[in-house]
Amino acid sequence: MKTVFEMIIDNEIPSVKLYEDDVCIVILDINPIQKGHALVISKKPYPRFTLAPQDELSHMMEVAKRVDLKMREVLGADGTNIMINNDPASGQEVPHLHIHVIPRYTGDGKGFVLNKDKYDDNEIASFGEKLCLN
Ligand code: AMP
Repeated sequence: MKTVFEMIIDNEIPSVKLYEDDVCIVILDINPIQKGHALVISKKPYPRFTLAPQDELSHMMEVAKRVDLKMREVLGADGTNIMINNDPASGQEVPHLHIHVIPRYTGDGKGFVLNKDKYDDNEIASFGEKLCLN
């Protein structure tokens, strides 16, 4: 079954499109965290970002950078949240790779609610060993 983003890419449902090339499209999120909230969406329906080839991910990040610069220029954004929700456990609703670019303003009150935790004694070293990539 097609995701909503495949239907947008195939022009089966409408969207406000900001950009398109061979690798990705950029649209406005229909339920923005902040007005102007954009989504850089892969043309191919990778369910999560680890399944996308590196060159496509790099290209999408380059496009996200352009969106960020545009938001600062024309919306006067003071910053952006650039994020990928990766699998349902992280809050991903649409299983099709997309990068959120959300304009932010100093004191806009939106916050960013990911509650921080603390390590027990020496626990950080053990996580460091487990996650070490070298
Ligand atoms: P995620 O939770 O990372 O999968 O984000 C999916 C995003 O897609 C949400 O922020 C939705 O508001 C957005 N979304 C869902 N349907 C549409 C649509 N038809 N047009 C634009 N954005 C959409």
